[in-house]
Amino acid sequence: MNQLIRCTDCNEIFLKSPFDRRTEYERQYGSPSESFRGVERDDFQDFLKNHRGHRFEDLEIIDQSFVSEKAYAEPVKVSYFKATNGKERFVIKKYRKSIDEPLRYQLIAGDYTLEPTGFEIQTKEIARQLNAEFKVNPLTEAQIAAFLKLYRQVVEIIDPEDLERIPEESSNPLEVYYRLDGVGLAYLLRNCRNIFKDQEYLDVEAFVHRHKEDGVLLLKRTYRIQLSWKAKPEKKAAYAAIPLQEKKMAKKE
Ligand SMILES: [Zn+2]
Repeated sequence: MNQLIRCTDCNEIFLKSPFDRRTEYERQYGSPSESFRGVERDDFQDFLKNHRGHRFEDLEIIDQSFVSEKAYAEPVKVSYFKATNGKERFVIKKYRKSIDEPLRYQLIAGDYTLEPTGFEIQTKEIARQLNAEFKVNPLTEAQIAAFLKLYRQVVEIIDPEDLERIPEESSNPLEVYYRLDGVGLAYLLRNCRNIFKDQEYLDVEAFVHRHKEDGVLLLKRTYRIQLSWKAKPEKKAAYAAIPLQEKKMAKKE
């Protein structure tokens, strides 16, 4: 079990995990066998030493509060989670600057919310897919541009409440994908008849049906971590909203 400990004097925290007392092996250069020397390392003992005589309290990590700017599997990233001492709430920033650095934890007196952007269509992916699938009778650039423009218009008029969320589609926790509803789909196809004719229309209609469920036609919504912290640790109210730098990550394929 992880235990989160806060030094109330310094406002520093330590996440105590079962792995803190571990033996690290350091390579001994210069010795013919390149033998390994065991080095006992105990980060928690260091923490206790640095905060001797200070007052500690346990913080409880708030369930389901974990958010991250990048994909779950990305090792170098900034994440946040929430914790409480029963009276006050804290945000804990978890980060490392490079892959060989240990994780660092920083305590922030405050809170965060997730602010969604609007719904976006996957412009580049749709254009690429149309070009890939219409090889024999390619669509013109003007037709593709017209299709993208139409799809954006459809997204503007649909009710976001009707969209179905696809949780499993994204490897990035701040990107969520949605499926177009039946009304939006009917509107899209009806207006496609103004752009494409005859067999071309039928091919585009088939394309839409192929990709509406889980492909390039899914709508994307990006969330931003909006961090707010107290101007002074002991004062209530006076929250300052600071938008974090939004980092876009290339979607893994
Ligand atoms: Zn301290």
